[in-house]
Amino acid sequence: MPSRTMRAMQLDAPGTPLSLRDVPVPVPGPGQVRIRVTACGVCRTDLHVVDGDLERAKYPIIPGHEIVGTVERLGEGVAALSPGQRVGVPWLGRTCGACPYCAGGRENLCDAPGFTGYTLDGGYAEYAVADAAYVFPLPAALGDDVAVAPLLCAGLIGFRSLGMVRGARRLGLYGFGAAAHIICQVAAAEGAAVHAFTRPGDTAARQLALRLGAVWVGDSGTAPPAPLDAAIIFAPVGALVPEALARVVKGGAVVCAGIHMSDIPAFPYRLLWGERMVRSVANLTRADGEAFLRVAARVPLRTQVTPFPLDQANEALARLRDGRLTGAAVLVP
Ligand SMILES: [Zn+2]
Ligand SMILES: [Zn+2]
Repeated sequence: MPSRTMRAMQLDAPGTPLSLRDVPVPVPGPGQVRIRVTACGVCRTDLHVVDGDLERAKYPIIPGHEIVGTVERLGEGVAALSPGQRVGVPWLGRTCGACPYCAGGRENLCDAPGFTGYTLDGGYAEYAVADAAYVFPLPAALGDDVAVAPLLCAGLIGFRSLGMVRGARRLGLYGFGAAAHIICQVAAAEGAAVHAFTRPGDTAARQLALRLGAVWVGDSGTAPPAPLDAAIIFAPVGALVPEALARVVKGGAVVCAGIHMSDIPAFPYRLLWGERMVRSVANLTRADGEAFLRVAARVPLRTQVTPFPLDQANEALARLRDGRLTGAAVLVP
């Protein structure tokens, strides 16, 4: 049995560091499971939660929505999972099942959702509870727990973004962090020519991009050798929207993959003219997750991770913020 308390990194208010706390081990309610957390990825969205960039966050909150762990205890009525099973918990923690979006198969846009590590306590802790219906079983073929963690948001949201531009032969990725380093592999495996745009002088990210199948790397302000069919922006920088629009062909799309972005500067209409499109990607559906995990095992995807002990969460977040990470940070309780 677990002790009555667990260690957790808790955020009391936006704009403050996380604090290491002893808090009660959560008890799974009906339909929930308790998971012993073995790895939890650090996502850029966690920075937005910490900074108070997002509305509706609950404080105090235990962040973390790339949870890998072992089912330890079942709440009432849970039949689909069993103790000892390895599972992953993503950003989408629950949906209402009744709003027009849920009814129309677009649960990612639910009007009354719960999000792990944002409105529901997440995985920066030794244990987490999650709604069993939103948990993904993780086959052993996906890799070890630390390597798998970034797939649960960086990979999954990246995959949904890639789905918006399927068929693009010449694909640009702006910001080569956790999400892009995963989605580069999927796109390359599908035959796309991936062009990776990084911060000026980020040679580690460029080397990683080339190793993972990119055909071209360069600064985010530079022109690729030929126009792109589509671009996905993973960096939270609004100025990249007109920049990317200027690099895509007529009819091309620019997809904004993050939950938060700085303001998009005004730009001349001619950049959008020619049936170019700008769109965002919001959250995920469970069907996205199931499809992506099948692809991840098949490619197979390999993540580049930097593990941190749980109590070093602030350091991991600081390194993500400053661009001092290559690939993804993962907390190991
Ligand atoms: Zn709904
Ligand atoms: Zn995320």
